[in-house]
Amino acid sequence: MRTRLIKVDKWNPEEKLLEEAAKIVKGGGLVAFPTETVYGLGANALDENAVLSIFRAKNRPVDNPLIVHVSRMEDVHQLAHLNEMALKFMERFWPGPVTLVLPAKGVVPKVTTGGLETVAVRMPNHPVALGLIDKAQVPIAAPSANRSGRPSPTDAEAVMEDMKNRVDVILDSGPTDVGVESTVLYVRNKEVVLLRHGGCPLEVLEEVAPVLVPTKDNSSAKHSPGTRYRHYAPSVPVVIIDEVGRWKEHPAYLNNISNVGFVGLSAPPVETKEEIRFDSVVHYGRGLFAALRAMERWSVGVILVELPSESGIGAAVRDRLIRAASEWE
Ligand code: AMP
Ligand code: MG
Repeated sequence: MRTRLIKVDKWNPEEKLLEEAAKIVKGGGLVAFPTETVYGLGANALDENAVLSIFRAKNRPVDNPLIVHVSRMEDVHQLAHLNEMALKFMERFWPGPVTLVLPAKGVVPKVTTGGLETVAVRMPNHPVALGLIDKAQVPIAAPSANRSGRPSPTDAEAVMEDMKNRVDVILDSGPTDVGVESTVLYVRNKEVVLLRHGGCPLEVLEEVAPVLVPTKDNSSAKHSPGTRYRHYAPSVPVVIIDEVGRWKEHPAYLNNISNVGFVGLSAPPVETKEEIRFDSVVHYGRGLFAALRAMERWSVGVILVELPSESGIGAAVRDRLIRAASEWE
């Protein structure tokens, strides 16, 4: 297959272009498209074969379920059993970077849910994503449009880097706004459990209801299969700068002292060959994945990264950095 790159106006998506892409989705094909978080790799969520081709294109483990995207609140009813708590979160945060895991209805194929009885749903806050889903007239399953394990793509060039000739079309509306993926919540009537930090900070979610944050021992990995896998990692080793100085002993650093890349907020602790510094944690979130990919292109030998503090979007940035730096899972 030859991938076509189609530029689409973010605020005023051209109807004709959306229709063309929607036709591909309806026909069982793959369309990469922008959301407010990262670029997604979309297919008809109700078509088993189409969904399987997402897993193949990404080389994604088949037990890692996909998020199903809708363009209207009422479209969730065909996919999942809602409870009052879910309705509250939808009302407050949709469209937006909040994914809800709910009991699935029978129409959702098991490939979409990774064999689980639950389905993850969200309404993205992006005119192109909403327009595409609307025109396709089916819910769209879409993980991030990167090869499995790599940093998520936050612009069409990054999608092309990973997915060239693996998807039919890439809709290009420029860089995404949030830059990290959605927050994932498991929503029961009386209890809401955080499965993944993401674009909507905990502090903001808790304005609606308390959110349980699993600790290492009662880990969310049991609930959310995707969090088990190594993820978000560029081909260059990522080393976290810790306060006790263990990073200085890391072989990846020691072997590349004259070829260091740095990504963070403060001044780097050592001389660097390349550095990307953000002036706020929101910008860190927005630019994190592009920064990791840039370091890869610039052929640094190691990427030293600074963890931001845990408040706001910082929790999601920390999570992605820690997993990008982990060697195995
Ligand atoms: P991605 O689409 O790659 O950003 O990943 C989607 C995330 O949502 C992964 O961490 C999945 O494990 C999680 N997820 C999707 N569906 C479910 C589900 N039914 N139950 C729990 N977690 C889910
Ligand atoms: Mg992903």
